[in-house]
Amino acid sequence: MTNTKPSLLDFTKKELQDLIKPTFRVNQIFGWLYHQYAENFDDMKNVPKALRDELEEKYVVNPLKIANKEESSDGTIKYLLQMQDGKTMEAVWLKMKDTQLDENGEVIQEAKYTICVSSQVGCKVGCSFCLTGKSGFTRDLTAGEIVAQVVTLKRDNNHKHNRMINIVYMGMGEPLDNLDNLSKAIEIFKEDDGLCISGKRQTVSTSGLSNKIDQLGQKDLGVHIAISLHAVDDELRTELIPMNKAHNISSIIEAVKRFPIDTRKRVMFEYLVIKEKNDDIASAKKLVKLLHGIKAKVNLIFFNPYPGTDYGRPSRADMVAFQEYLIDHGLLCTIRDSKGIDISAACGQLKEKTEGEV
Ligand code: SAH
Ligand code: SF4
Repeated sequence: MTNTKPSLLDFTKKELQDLIKPTFRVNQIFGWLYHQYAENFDDMKNVPKALRDELEEKYVVNPLKIANKEESSDGTIKYLLQMQDGKTMEAVWLKMKDTQLDENGEVIQEAKYTICVSSQVGCKVGCSFCLTGKSGFTRDLTAGEIVAQVVTLKRDNNHKHNRMINIVYMGMGEPLDNLDNLSKAIEIFKEDDGLCISGKRQTVSTSGLSNKIDQLGQKDLGVHIAISLHAVDDELRTELIPMNKAHNISSIIEAVKRFPIDTRKRVMFEYLVIKEKNDDIASAKKLVKLLHGIKAKVNLIFFNPYPGTDYGRPSRADMVAFQEYLIDHGLLCTIRDSKGIDISAACGQLKEKTEGEV
């Protein structure tokens, strides 16, 4: 067993205040962690050497190392990150909007970025279309390992702590299957003296563990949810997502209706479009019916094929026809750009390419 230590990124500020005295040292350390993105204790110049040594005995600063990195022409950067036990997972830096300049070349709005983070190594849900699901489940990420993905990517992109960033829990793993560590990470991201990323800027994507949707709602963290729906009837959904047997479509819809949502916001339903499986207008029609009465937004995702899969990528024409049907029937609907399509964009593909595990 590899010798691993807890990370300082595992703790809320209040918890650190219980661990480290006096309190003002915690303020300094918090600044080093979240404003300077310190990598090790020696970076923390204004913290006395004796305290640094004491902390170093028990903790690490950042538990992640960048093991591989692929940059796409559209600004997407995919990272393979290695943890203390040698296991790896992925996080993705996504450019959502380019920098806007006025006619004199002055910046009027800075580029906007979103970070896609992993919650587990592998996944227990085992969706038939997902590369991460195919490799089985290895372990949950700790809260610190979730937090460290954002710190590491912001640091690597020289993104200042006070520049806004959005987080989507859409990397490897099922976030609601690691609810305690996920909730802790969400709270640490929200810390006013840390990264100060509000719940509104964090979206938890789930394959639909309906009881856990309720539990997340009860925590009232102010986050958004995105539901990976992908099918409008239980038979196909069970083929795609086996645990649909236990958490069927209607149980998910009921849980969504109970979830506390900011009145100005909508619940996102992700719909992975697979050629000749669920890309027909009859499915679009059922989807409109299913989402009736919910403040929903549908995000259509092109299935991203990988070697060995039986599923195919739908045509753009079918995708657009599907979208138009939804819009004509009153639903908000976007087609997700396949960001980083040239860099193994679908979840699990960089890990697969680097390590050849599957
Ligand atoms: N486990 C969570 C979050 C991680 S998966 C969930 O399932 O929602 C994030 C998204 O990637 C999901 O919507 C999933 O359906 C999608 N995805 C997985 N494999 C894909 C592939 N090969 N092509 C396109 N999207 C994929
Ligand atoms: Fe797990 Fe999400 Fe992949 Fe399904 S799509 S196997 S829930 S990571």
